[in-house]
Amino acid sequence: MAEDIMQKIVSLCKRRGFVFPGSEIYGGLANSWDYGPLGAQLKKNIKDDWWKQVVESRDDMVGLDGAILMNPKVWEASGHVSNFNDPLVEDIVTHKRYRADHVIEEWLEQNGDKPFYLDGQLVVEKLSVEAMSLEQMSKFIADNGITSPDKNELSEPKQFNLMFATHIGPTSDSGNEVYMRPETAQAIFVNFKNVINTSRKRVPFGIAQIGKAFRNEITPGNFTFRTLEFEQMEIEYFIEENGWEAEFEKWENWMQNWAQRIGLDMEKVSKLNVPKEELAHYSKKTIDFEFDFPFGKKELWGLAYRTNFDLTNHMNHSGEKMEFTDPMDTKRKYIPHVIEPSLGVDRTMLAILASAYCEEEVPGESEGRIVMKFAPHMAPYQVAVLPLMKKDGLEEKAQEVFDLILPHYRAEFDVSGSIGKRYRRQDEIGTPLCITVDHDTLQDGSVTVRDRDTMEQKRVPIEQLLCVLAEHLST
Ligand code: ATP
Repeated sequence: MAEDIMQKIVSLCKRRGFVFPGSEIYGGLANSWDYGPLGAQLKKNIKDDWWKQVVESRDDMVGLDGAILMNPKVWEASGHVSNFNDPLVEDIVTHKRYRADHVIEEWLEQNGDKPFYLDGQLVVEKLSVEAMSLEQMSKFIADNGITSPDKNELSEPKQFNLMFATHIGPTSDSGNEVYMRPETAQAIFVNFKNVINTSRKRVPFGIAQIGKAFRNEITPGNFTFRTLEFEQMEIEYFIEENGWEAEFEKWENWMQNWAQRIGLDMEKVSKLNVPKEELAHYSKKTIDFEFDFPFGKKELWGLAYRTNFDLTNHMNHSGEKMEFTDPMDTKRKYIPHVIEPSLGVDRTMLAILASAYCEEEVPGESEGRIVMKFAPHMAPYQVAVLPLMKKDGLEEKAQEVFDLILPHYRAEFDVSGSIGKRYRRQDEIGTPLCITVDHDTLQDGSVTVRDRDTMEQKRVPIEQLLCVLAEHLST
């Protein structure tokens, strides 16, 4: 049933132009996706709203747009060269590779009610797979006879770095090797001093950034949930160490509220306090915001207290001072700590799609409808203008109405097909309001406004149209 819903969402995305398989005319490229006209707009709406809320509406935040390729020393200092690894096993016959932790987790899902062996000991309590060492994983796989999905023996687990490497210049010697950034955050840290020196911001303040990140994920999948390239919206909020808990809580509340604001089904949103032994190498506390996707409950966003790990490391590796001078006491210098809300744009969009997707019966009609109940400010189009027919001057009149609306709202003009079919299409792409121009419009100067969710229709004089739209569509 849940898988079914996922397939329906994927198919709607293709059919209506939200998401297409990447490089499709060449047979595609596994796990790459292209965002079509509606998907590109939805993604932009997510990013615009985030930027507006965290940068433009606050005095304690500024933006940044850093480069994707950075000096490789950045990734040595950040710990990504030595620590950004996933454990990998290989099917010794087919040579297909799998994440060792995922193989074990799947095995536990199927056999979790039975006791199992670890280090020769019978284990009954819940196992924290993410906290297992390579040796433990190796033993666990061997002791419990775990095989590949093709039922073949698996190799010893090995660490596999997730960063994509590439070369600058014509030769491919190691001196020219650079990494495609695996997170946007480091550009914020390396520019900390530049921002302090050029803006008027003082701790506590934050730097926000939106941009692409790249990870050579071994087991990508589940549509756009886990891909090799994706977009992140990240904030580093610089604070004093004392009182970090309160700042953490403020961002936790902010994320919770924003989830609601963008129309996520809040019954599907939950929080997981990541256990100490599973924390990333830089984090002292992390909360994962999880979403109950049709394929299971998974991480949507992360919120981490990164201490002053990154600024300290960059100061040590680069020799540049990363201290902040307290303006009230210029003798006091310190390296600020950070709270990091880290959000994936693609996962956010997937959660919005899963929240919005509804199948409904329509009273008096044999066929039901699919409707995407997007929050009005997220919907790719907010309004559709539909002349009842092309003839009798209705198209021209509708064009006048469209020209009135287009400067104010994202609007679409659609003349082709029966009005019923056009309503269904607008329901499927989640347009909150449809405006129909009919023969009466030519007489009385009013149009029909149809509400996507209730399907109720009311007559509105054209001169009042913008006010009625504002009432329905304002955020
Ligand atoms: P996961 O455990 O699912 O691999 P992560 O903990 O490694 O995720 P972070 O490093 O915290 O993820 O990255 C921050 C956010 O970036 C995630 O919460 C998610 O929204 C997004 N993200 C991370 N990896 C991917 C990916 N491969 N594809 C799409 N989005 C991703």
